[in-house]
Amino acid sequence: MGGMFRGLLFLLSLSVCFGRSNMPPEADQNLAREIYKEMVEIKSGYTTGATTPVAEAAARRLRAAGFPERDIFVGGASPAKGNLVVRYHGSGRLRPILLLAHIDVVEANREDWSLDPFTLTEKDGYFYGRGTADDKAQAAVWVANLIRYRREGYQPDRDIMVALTADEEGGGPYNGVAWLLKNHRELIDGEFCLNEGGRGQMVNGVKVSNNLQAAEKWYLDLRLEVRNKGGHSSVPTADNAIYRLAQALVRVSQVEFPLKVSEVTRAYFGGQAKLDRTSEKDTLAAAAKGDPAAIERVAESSPVWNSMLRTTCVATMLEGGHARNALPQLAAANVNCRVLPGESLEEVLERVKGAVGDAQVTISVTTREENSPASPLREDLVRTMSAITDEMWPGVAVVPTLSTGATDGRMLRVAGIPTYGVQGFFGERDDYRAHGRDERMLVQSFYEGQTFLYSLVKKLSKAQ
Ligand SMILES: [Zn+2]
Repeated sequence: MGGMFRGLLFLLSLSVCFGRSNMPPEADQNLAREIYKEMVEIKSGYTTGATTPVAEAAARRLRAAGFPERDIFVGGASPAKGNLVVRYHGSGRLRPILLLAHIDVVEANREDWSLDPFTLTEKDGYFYGRGTADDKAQAAVWVANLIRYRREGYQPDRDIMVALTADEEGGGPYNGVAWLLKNHRELIDGEFCLNEGGRGQMVNGVKVSNNLQAAEKWYLDLRLEVRNKGGHSSVPTADNAIYRLAQALVRVSQVEFPLKVSEVTRAYFGGQAKLDRTSEKDTLAAAAKGDPAAIERVAESSPVWNSMLRTTCVATMLEGGHARNALPQLAAANVNCRVLPGESLEEVLERVKGAVGDAQVTISVTTREENSPASPLREDLVRTMSAITDEMWPGVAVVPTLSTGATDGRMLRVAGIPTYGVQGFFGERDDYRAHGRDERMLVQSFYEGQTFLYSLVKKLSKAQ
């Protein structure tokens, strides 16, 4: 055999070998897929569906696999809004780990989609269906992997708890995580939690990073309101509620919150610097080290990066006036703020009020979440995740991130349970369809994610 030919054969066998090692055993693939299909095909939209049938379907699978009834809990804030919690017992040497996924989905209408959103369809290398990405893949994989640990007789050093929860998307009074924290904290009280929120990113089909989400901004709505006695519109006065509000909003649009980096965003921009192939590489590296000029340049270069580096407030809704021929008695706006972890309500209010500078514009807080802290970048998690990522997808970096949006992880962080978005499901960075039409998941990514999460949880639940 010629050297080149041998070399090719070697490469070929290497890729076959890698390909195979990334896939779970066939029986486990089939089980995960069956559970996934069952979950996607149960309608669990916020208003048009229910999560209880999903929780019950998972409970049936677990019972059939030999999990005792006493380790399975199904319950929630209302009969339709059920959650499932199951516990796989370890030696108790370490405190439990919580594996979280939500089983409600954003609504989906058949007429908006090119396929039925509530049928799991495999086509062109993708699974299509509402919830295939957000968040029923992770829910199905948690259950399938737990069943696999049991079948294999795996003995962890800590309990492994899986919680499949209601109403992450809609939030509100039926949110499963909030309900469990309030009513059954003991069922989900872990040393730390793995959740959605950190995906694998691909650019033009090439995997570039496996994200580890360790922080989220928190949500705040402010109402700006101007009241006026009004009058006949044929006799305008200088004092007009709509103009007054408009001027206040212009000033809000000019507010610039201070740029800040944290442990998580330093690590994030450090990771981006390593991935970057452009002339911005050095700027990103300098930003990761805290150089103010570089941070400013990074923020200016992208709205997403800007939002990761500072609190933002933006006008999102307007109301005002009561008749076309009357001076307005009311003008009001909603201003939505996304606040960096660690920044307080008082700091935000002070800055917005200072900018508005008009006593006739009242500013009130209408929605306020609790300030959710960043989770510390645990050494064991970063190390283990990096090792498995490197083994499964050589060259792919683990990149810590801060989400500008929100998941249920924020509530656990507020409750003192550090939470990490870790999935190992890869998708195109610029083709993210969760919440939109034709939501999908790469078939291969689903199974690779299953392997990744299987190995990660197994390693993290053994004393190291
Ligand atoms: Zn989600």
